[in-house]
Amino acid sequence: MIDYHKPYSNEMILTRVCEKIKENPFEDPYALQEALVEAFKKLPLYRSIKHVHFLNSATSALEVMALALKLKPEDEVILPSFTHVSTANAFARVGAKLKFVDIEPESLNLDIHKVEAAITEQTKVIIPIHYGGVNHDFEALLKLSGDRGITLLEDASHCINSGYQEKGFGLYGAMGCLSFHHTKNITSGGHGGCLFVADDQLNEDCLEIMHHGTNQDAFAKGRIQHYRWQQLGSEFMMTPYQMRFLLEALPYVEAVTTRRKQIWNRYRDALAELNNTKKIKCPTGVTGNGHLFYVLLNTEAEKNRAIEWLGKKGIQIVTHYQPLHNSPMGLKLGYENTDLKITESVARRIIRLPIHAALTDAQQGLIIEQLLQLWG
Ligand SMILES: *Cc1c(COP(=O)(O)O)cnc(C)c1O
Repeated sequence: MIDYHKPYSNEMILTRVCEKIKENPFEDPYALQEALVEAFKKLPLYRSIKHVHFLNSATSALEVMALALKLKPEDEVILPSFTHVSTANAFARVGAKLKFVDIEPESLNLDIHKVEAAITEQTKVIIPIHYGGVNHDFEALLKLSGDRGITLLEDASHCINSGYQEKGFGLYGAMGCLSFHHTKNITSGGHGGCLFVADDQLNEDCLEIMHHGTNQDAFAKGRIQHYRWQQLGSEFMMTPYQMRFLLEALPYVEAVTTRRKQIWNRYRDALAELNNTKKIKCPTGVTGNGHLFYVLLNTEAEKNRAIEWLGKKGIQIVTHYQPLHNSPMGLKLGYENTDLKITESVARRIIRLPIHAALTDAQQGLIIEQLLQLWG
């Protein structure tokens, strides 16, 4: 079986993680945090990090963002319906009003014109995802949110080592996150994520929220004698084992990105003709970080046929996000009549092709051969 994805790891990472844990099974999380910040700042896209915190998931980072903004029930949050459920959960749980906006059919990112049309006096937040680590309209989104005084957050969960101009995605918004879940390009040993915070004041709030809503961070750094309950919070931190894994894996991020981009480019080139003749639709332009390569079939039946055919040949093909607005929870929240035609249509027709750093050229050759047979 050719897997859709394999979590990234190698002998060196595993050996070093084991050695370090044997040496000291209970490493100091503050020392590890500092080592991780330094390691990130060595990567070209992350030189300008202001504040970064390593949390147990991107889901947690999104929850911290939502708590930090102290949103009121009438405050509106613009987000895609074509996203991971965590983008929505975080803001629904703090009682804000979700405004699901449709995607545009080329990049599957938020449609900037529809975002603009959805803005009201109550709009407090816009939170895009950068689908597959790419976002062509990001400059327009930065300008739109900036001009209107709306807080831009970034769910950059797909985006390790991809960005806009000289900065990584996640560093532009007031707050942003990356995911190190094992399905992403690199992992902190299963689960994990980080939270970027650009604003000093927001950062003070985030620090309390992720330490159970207390000023424990100030206490740990010797600045106060007792720490006390300050606001709503929880235990959102990454464990030292996860931090150690990430620290050992991070030096390979450039190599992983390069390999994934190679695979991505080969799919793009191999499928260009099928895309031109409209047999299928797939990305034609820039690569991002090679997080995912999607293909849109013309009908749902064709999608099902592709998954079945390739499955029989031993190739694992997966679909992607199912819309949130008309999900069972979306219906409970009253979003069933939201008009998101592209989202609904894309969700029915999308597949993703195997892509991970351990996929060999020969395996990819086999996949492409089968795709050309299927659609040729
Ligand atoms: C993976 C993902 C998440 C959740 O990340 P975790 O680290 O698993 O919590 C959130 N948003 C998007 C867009 C994702 O792809």
